[in-house]
Amino acid sequence: MTDRIDIAAYERIVILTGAGVSAASGLDTFRGHGGLWKQFDPEACATATALHTDPLRVWRLISFMRRAAKTAKPNPAHQAIAALQDKLTATQSLTVVTQNIDGLHQRAGSPGVIELHGRLSHTRCMNPRCAVMPFEDWDLYETEVPHCERCGAVLRPDVVLFEEMLPPDAYRACDDAVNACDLFLAVGTSCTVHPACDFVFTAKDHGARAILVNLEPPENAADVFDEIHLGPAEELLPALLG
Ligand code: NAD
Repeated sequence: MTDRIDIAAYERIVILTGAGVSAASGLDTFRGHGGLWKQFDPEACATATALHTDPLRVWRLISFMRRAAKTAKPNPAHQAIAALQDKLTATQSLTVVTQNIDGLHQRAGSPGVIELHGRLSHTRCMNPRCAVMPFEDWDLYETEVPHCERCGAVLRPDVVLFEEMLPPDAYRACDDAVNACDLFLAVGTSCTVHPACDFVFTAKDHGARAILVNLEPPENAADVFDEIHLGPAEELLPALLG
C-alpha cells in the first residue's frame, strides 16, 4: 500500500511530468522498452540540424506521434494531477510543468500547464519574418513537407527539437515556480533531458521536498530525491495524491 503524500503540509507544489505519465494512454516514451528511439534515430529525426537538412524525416516522427496523440485519452495519472487542483486551499498553489507535447494534462482539465517542449497539435512557419502565427494542425506529413500559404517557406512542428532553446516564457515561469516550491514531484521522466533534469537540484537547493514516481530509478539523480516510488504512474499517483 502506498502512503499518501501529505499535500496539506505544502504551500507551493510543482509537478514535473515526462513521457512516462502518458505511457498508459498508449503513447510511447523516448527511452526504455519499446521507446521511440528504438524506431527513430534522434539525430536524424529530432534535431534542429535535421530540420534544416531533411525536414521530412522530422515530420515523419511528428506524424507518427500526432497519429497516436490525436485520439489518446488522459489516464488516471493525468486525472489525479488535475483533481489535485480542486483539493488545494486558497493559500496553496500547484504548477504543472510538462516535457510532454501531447496535450493530455490539458485534456484532463489541468489549468495553466507549462509546456517546456512545445505542442504536437500546432504547426508554424520557419520564416521568422512571416506573419503567420502557429496554428492548430493535426495533419500528417509523411511523403511531402508542408509549405506556408503566405510566404512559401517550409512549415515546422511547434515543438522544441534537440539543439534548440526552450520557449523563454515557459522556461522562466517554470524556473520561478521551481525556485519557490516546497514540494517538487517528478513523474514519468528519466531525468536525462536538460534542463528539466536540473530542476530537482534547484528545488532541493531551495529546501523543497523532492519525490519521484517512475518505472525505473533515475540514472543521474537518484540521490537527490527524498522519496522514490517505483511503478506505473497511473497506479501510484491516484494513491499518492489521494
Ligand atoms: P523518457 O522517454 O526519457 O523517459 C520516460 C520515463 O518514463 C522512463 O524513465 C520510464 O521508466 C518511465 N515510464 C515509462 N512508463 C511509465 C509509467 N507507466 N509510469 C511511470 N513511469 C513510466 O521521457 P522524458 O524524461 O519525458 O524525456 C523527455 C523527452 O521525451 C521530452 O523531450 C518529451 O518531449 C519527449 N516525449 C514526449 C512524449 C509525449 O508527449 N507523450 C512521448 C515521447 C517522448
